[in-house]
Amino acid sequence: ILSLQSVSKTFTVGAHEVRAVDDVSFDVAKGECLAVVGESGSGKSTIANMILGIYPPSEGTISYRGTVLPSSRELSHRRAIQLVQQNPLSSLNPKRTIGASLRLALDVHGIGERSRRWERVGKLLEEVGLPADYRSRSPATLSGGQRQRVAIARALACESEIVVLDEPTSALDVLVQARTLKLLNELKESRGLTYIFITHDLSVVRNIADRVAVFENGKLVELDTVETIFSNPADPYTRGLIGAVP
Ligand code: ATP
Ligand code: MG
Repeated sequence: ILSLQSVSKTFTVGAHEVRAVDDVSFDVAKGECLAVVGESGSGKSTIANMILGIYPPSEGTISYRGTVLPSSRELSHRRAIQLVQQNPLSSLNPKRTIGASLRLALDVHGIGERSRRWERVGKLLEEVGLPADYRSRSPATLSGGQRQRVAIARALACESEIVVLDEPTSALDVLVQARTLKLLNELKESRGLTYIFITHDLSVVRNIADRVAVFENGKLVELDTVETIFSNPADPYTRGLIGAVP
């Protein structure tokens, strides 16, 4: 469903050039969860931002359903590929109620009958395990885990096929983290969603991923199934990463 071909990204910082992503190629199949792991600064978020069309690659192409993504982020692209971030407060407008934010997503993308959209917002909240009457709450009145559910509901509102999750559970305590992962696993099945799941937490990888892409200094050093990555990693860097887990 998604294909990266020889993708690189170079940032210019003052007189320096930072090669954040270096000649990376991989495919993501519909309905799979690909975990993206690697140390801080290895290029994970840069990959995510290019897939989301926030900025284009310096070199190479990213294709979605066989079509190369244009350099400007079009509405159809924004609808098809959604982001769920570590801190959903930064993506939810504090001045809008939860319901108004979700309603806006439906309006922008013209999803469903206008007169039924408010009802649909309630259903979306229920789908992510929140009461429908949370429509009238503001983001500030929700817990971190609840906000993350709202961010997931918004991705569902757009009927996206691909959800890019950038450390979505990192700020949550272990119990809430487990509940969020359970929800994501259920939605993956019920909606046939495709996930690109960025995390530094290998226990999260075990719980949700089908395959794992390991990044080191902007390079893809290994990509394999979860089973192989954990039981028989080929690359010394991956072995170190797995070995570092208690
Ligand atoms: P973390 O786990 O800390 O989130 P990451 O793997 O997501 O790290 P990136 O944010 O992709 O890492 O950054 C990769 C490299 O690119 C880093 O060296 C970073 O400093 C650099 N970089 C990222 N974005 C920019 C930018 N907008 N301008 C300049 N350099 C950038
Ligand atoms: Mg990052």
